[in-house]
Amino acid sequence: MKNGKHGVIIGAGPAGLSAAETLTKSDYTFTVLEADDHTGGISATIQHNGFYFDLGGHRFFTKNTDIEKYVDDLLGEEKVMVDRSSKILLRGKFFDYPLKPANAMLGLGLFTATSIMFNYILERLRPDVEPANLEQWMVKEFGTPLYKLFFKTYTEKVWGIDCNRISAAWGAQRIKGLSLRTAIIDAFYSRRQKDATSLVQHFSYPRLGIGVICDKLAETIKGENSLLLNAPATALHHNGKRITAVEYAMNGGVEKVEADFVISSMPITELVTSLQPAPPDDVVRAAQSLRYRELVCVALMFDLPSVTDETWIYVHEPHIDFGRLHEPKNWSRAMAPESKSCVVFEYFCNEGDDVWNMRDEDLCEKTKKDFEESGIAPGSTAKVVDYKIERVKKAYPSYEIGFSKPLITIRDYLKQFENLEMIGRYGTYKYNNLDHSLETGIKGAQNILGANWDTFEVNEEKEYLEEIKNKKA
Ligand SMILES: Cc1cc2nc3c(=O)[nH]c(=O)nc-3n(C[C@H](O)[C@H](O)[C@H](O)COP(=O)(O)OP(=O)(O)OC[C@H]3O[C@@H](n4cnc5c(N)ncnc54)[C@H](O)[C@@H]3O)c2cc1C
Repeated sequence: MKNGKHGVIIGAGPAGLSAAETLTKSDYTFTVLEADDHTGGISATIQHNGFYFDLGGHRFFTKNTDIEKYVDDLLGEEKVMVDRSSKILLRGKFFDYPLKPANAMLGLGLFTATSIMFNYILERLRPDVEPANLEQWMVKEFGTPLYKLFFKTYTEKVWGIDCNRISAAWGAQRIKGLSLRTAIIDAFYSRRQKDATSLVQHFSYPRLGIGVICDKLAETIKGENSLLLNAPATALHHNGKRITAVEYAMNGGVEKVEADFVISSMPITELVTSLQPAPPDDVVRAAQSLRYRELVCVALMFDLPSVTDETWIYVHEPHIDFGRLHEPKNWSRAMAPESKSCVVFEYFCNEGDDVWNMRDEDLCEKTKKDFEESGIAPGSTAKVVDYKIERVKKAYPSYEIGFSKPLITIRDYLKQFENLEMIGRYGTYKYNNLDHSLETGIKGAQNILGANWDTFEVNEEKEYLEEIKNKKA
């Protein structure tokens, strides 16, 4: 080994692999353990009989110029630019996203549009009170009619719980990225359209799917470094100050690797329960109390060159169970054979519920039926020739009210391990995007090399924090 220091990186998604790539430029060596049979994690691209699709379309967009360059350098010629074209399906009508004034007026009617604007202005005039939950946060930000019309149903579809049970922190972190307020307000007053992340009209994308980013990162793992697939980390041994070794399952047996350091992108809740000796009861209870939301992706393959014109369609209709769909060919022509296309439907659900447990054939039939009912592409399901279902566990860390206390308990406990770094969306239990996940991986690896970043601080919306500061000032 180069300098005798060898560590373990858990997970070969964007975070684990960017940590690995960063360490390849150092004297440290490592073993990457990946539970799955492929790299990419949730940012993988699935290949099926000549079709390629992401687990829910993944655009690459970042405000961090270093990460932008990092991905540009990785992708080189593989990068394509995509014109964004999204629609919202609501009450049987399609709304442009971002909203356009004429389209919004026609779709909502003059009375509703006026009431939205009036209530929005009214909310802006109210005294600034700290919202206790997401519902209050949204009403404060958008006014009641807009919240009820556009946000409530879709958000509750995504989370499976009432908006008044979701933490306001999620709105602060995420709705900025999906801001219909910005969309609507900008539709009428085109003040800052250029700057709003949510309204980005173009984004970059790898020609053969988002998974190419992880493929390229994995290619940098060579020589004394290794990447083991089908190798879930099952136990982390420690002496109270340092992680000393990691056990992992392999070929039906258990292997052990000594570790000078560990960088973990496995869910932080599972990390806690894998520690040996086990943490105190309150820490284990804290880990057991944190929840996730799952995702089922149904990809239908059509014997049609094109099915929709959009990059995404958000389906707000409560009677249709899928929440969103995208057609990968509208992102990159290379994602499907010339004369065929594929549409990917996302069902937000919980492990063990009806959708999660539904047989693949039944899910396919249900999706075809609901797609016809949506009126998005009438008659197209007669041309479905194949399908592929992907079930994604722990797709979203749940921001149900009360989540921050147990998370703090866990973080405080894990601080004692001086050679352990938590990275990624699940390693930090944070609603991170791909760019944030890459950044945590790079920073986690830099910490092992002597830097002093807080990986939990990545993806704190600087602009949002500044807005709060300015409001209070
Ligand atoms: C539906 C959906 C759409 C999204 N769209 C976008 C988008 O448009 N743009 C964007 O920027 N981001 C998007 N994201 C977010 C993006 O997918 C994540 O930020 C990113 O994949 C997180 O990377 P990660 O490495 O932290 O976690 P993951 O991608 O989950 O990778 C973690 C890896 O760790 C492995 N692992 C877990 N436990 C163990 C263990 N015990 N031992 C070994 N390995 C283990 C897993 O198998 C996995 O491969 C989306 C996410 C979802 C769910």
